[in-house]
Amino acid sequence: MQPLPKKYKFSEIERKWQQKWEELGIYHFDWNATSRPVFSIDTPPPYPSGNFHMGNILNWTYFDIVARYKRMRGFNVLFPQGWDCHGLSIEIQVEKEQKIRKRDVPPDQFRKWCEQLIERYIALMKDSILKLGCSIDWTTEYCTMDPDYWRRTQLSFILLHKKGFMYQGTHPVNWCPRCETAIADAEVDYEKRQGALNYIRFPLEGTSEHLLIATSRPEFIPACVAVEVNPDDERFNKYIGKNIVVPVVNRIVKIIADEAVDPSFGTGVVMICTYGDKEDVKTVMKHKLPVVRLLTDNGRINENGGKYAGLTINQARKAIVEDLDAAGLLEKVEKLAQEVGVCDRCKTHVEILEHKQWFMKTRVLTDEVEKTANEVVWYPDYMKTRLIDWAKSLDWDWVISRQRVFATPIPVWYCKSCGELILAEEEWVPIDPKLENPRVDKCPKCGSREFIPERDVFDTWMDSSITCAVHAGWPDREDWKRLFPADVHPSGIDIIRTWAYYLMVRHLALFGETPYKSCLINGMVLGSDGRKMSKSLKNYVAAPEVLDKYGSDATRQWAAGGGATGSDIPFRWPDVEYGRRFLVKLWNVSKFAINLLEGYTPSGKSEFELQPLDKWVLSKAEKLTQKVTEAMEKCQFNVAVEEIRTFTWHLFCDYYIEAVKDKLYNPDVYGQAKKLAAQHTLYGVLYRVLQLLAPMTPHLTEEIYQSMYAEDKGFESLQISPWPEYNPELENEAVEKNGDLIMAIMSGVRQDKAENKLPLNAPVKTLDIYSGSAETANVINSVKEDIAGTLKIADIRVHPEKRSDGRQIGPYDVSFQIEY
Ligand SMILES: [Zn+2]
Ligand SMILES: [Zn+2]
Repeated sequence: MQPLPKKYKFSEIERKWQQKWEELGIYHFDWNATSRPVFSIDTPPPYPSGNFHMGNILNWTYFDIVARYKRMRGFNVLFPQGWDCHGLSIEIQVEKEQKIRKRDVPPDQFRKWCEQLIERYIALMKDSILKLGCSIDWTTEYCTMDPDYWRRTQLSFILLHKKGFMYQGTHPVNWCPRCETAIADAEVDYEKRQGALNYIRFPLEGTSEHLLIATSRPEFIPACVAVEVNPDDERFNKYIGKNIVVPVVNRIVKIIADEAVDPSFGTGVVMICTYGDKEDVKTVMKHKLPVVRLLTDNGRINENGGKYAGLTINQARKAIVEDLDAAGLLEKVEKLAQEVGVCDRCKTHVEILEHKQWFMKTRVLTDEVEKTANEVVWYPDYMKTRLIDWAKSLDWDWVISRQRVFATPIPVWYCKSCGELILAEEEWVPIDPKLENPRVDKCPKCGSREFIPERDVFDTWMDSSITCAVHAGWPDREDWKRLFPADVHPSGIDIIRTWAYYLMVRHLALFGETPYKSCLINGMVLGSDGRKMSKSLKNYVAAPEVLDKYGSDATRQWAAGGGATGSDIPFRWPDVEYGRRFLVKLWNVSKFAINLLEGYTPSGKSEFELQPLDKWVLSKAEKLTQKVTEAMEKCQFNVAVEEIRTFTWHLFCDYYIEAVKDKLYNPDVYGQAKKLAAQHTLYGVLYRVLQLLAPMTPHLTEEIYQSMYAEDKGFESLQISPWPEYNPELENEAVEKNGDLIMAIMSGVRQDKAENKLPLNAPVKTLDIYSGSAETANVINSVKEDIAGTLKIADIRVHPEKRSDGRQIGPYDVSFQIEY
């Protein structure tokens, strides 16, 4: 046994072991081992944002606890790490940094800037992941912006195209006018904004009458293609089929009937514009109405807007309302609190535009998604309904093309003369159609030799929603199915509708199989005030600050213990401080144990008999092992960490060690055999605590293990020692019950000393214990010397009778009287 340094210095210990573990290579997945069972973690590759926040700490702590636990359970664990580079947010940041718009510079130049920014961001995030001590296999590191990763994204597109899942269509899509790209439903956020409800008169053709329409988007009036009422609404159904005049543009449109109109909403008369919202899209399709495209890609009114052409949406709204007012067609304006869809990257109001886009057929898979989601194990279970509800709520297929620059190219060309689509062959990828022609002599349809490349690129989720297969080695390793489906896909609650969903549809379409067997969900990290953590609320805490101040192990305890898996957890400094205090306690008790274990050789075959308190703590340790193992199997990390802390701090340190240390210091009084029994117990129980804690606080437990146990146990690292098996034979209810009574008596005496303002080691002249029965008296007598030694009692007298005038001991029929 080596002595431990005097002070617990987490920064030295943590850095040392992080380097050592890397050198030992214990986190490398063994691709050649066939005997050990495998366990694969589908680490979601993060967008490099340059900012590792407390939410990331929570995610990675969860991933890492699972990885370390499974490794100790004997699994060959694959814990990969990638970077999901092609984010729209990166393009936006480059535009800001360089003070340009992406279309102002050659795509190559723009791409290079994006790559440089990504490299910087990855370095920053990686630094925090390393400091957190994650047991990642860094030999697996990848970037989705590398052509070798494009290859996988493009290949999966080609395969899905051949299977009929990919199609092009002119269909309304969510469009961000600032980013000038289509975006998916999942990229639309909703924000509460103050708007205005305008009551506008639409004249009925050939009469002096009008209908009143309430709208929050008057700027769309030039694109009005119909007016709609409910057929059962007696106020208006007489107008169905009649013509009505659209103000401002003086277009004549029909009044149509639709049960979907809510007579109690607004005025009960609705204008249909192409496209004001998703409801308009449905109505236009259902009634086969014409489409008037009103907006340009960058959010201005086009030539169909007549005199408003060239204005921005906001300018047009103002101008149209003024004109309506001047024409006497604006009846009134009311304030309106509304929820509007905004681009989740730049917060611009999302519009709906018709564009030719690439789509993946996802809605045909909704039943399959529901069935599969029900088969997957969810931690916690109720999270699966989020995925199922989302899948069922989708109105449109997934629009997978984007009008961006920094993304994986779509491997497709078109024949210049006949428009025939030429799909890249599987062997051509990675390929950028903008830089290379298709490897065919001529158009198979018309024989032309000129081709136009596809300029659109893939949605980022096309890169990141094949990770389960990619991590397993697809398409390069023949044995990739060994690691597929992934054993666990860990994910944040906020990205179930994206990550968990896209992974599911994509792999179901490609391979007809679920991508993951289980899904581990973490909640959000809130500020200490319980509100969402944000810089503007001044409740934001940066992860590097926490790691620098308290180190990884204390921070990981906050993450593991902060709340139930899947629930939102607040960040509070005192929680991390509590974690640190626990670690200091464990450090100090280990140093103390090294003293108490002087002369003890774990392998020595000495004769000893376990005493009642030894058996008591061993039985409790067994129970703890069972509880912690069960919690780890269910990913209830907060339960595991709480159990371990309570056991270690109170049962083990405050009671057991206090109760036996006198015996360890004075073998002459108690006998060598009793000392050996206590040493054996102390040594074994502390080791058990270290093992159970190892997945959560890997650094400190390793340091103590290396000092005290490595020589005897022989494992290179505690991290690869086998997880302790729960042994029910070591559990003994009777022993525990008796031990609990002894602890209660000792606790009573301590309390008595405290109430008399005496130090804990103050001598006691006599202690009279009234045990209530001969049987209980026997139990107490058997550990009389432990009680006496621990509490410095000169004389203990145990009586079988019951008395009620002394100090009562908890729920027992036991009381005592004390004389100092
Ligand atoms: Zn945007
Ligand atoms: Zn052709």
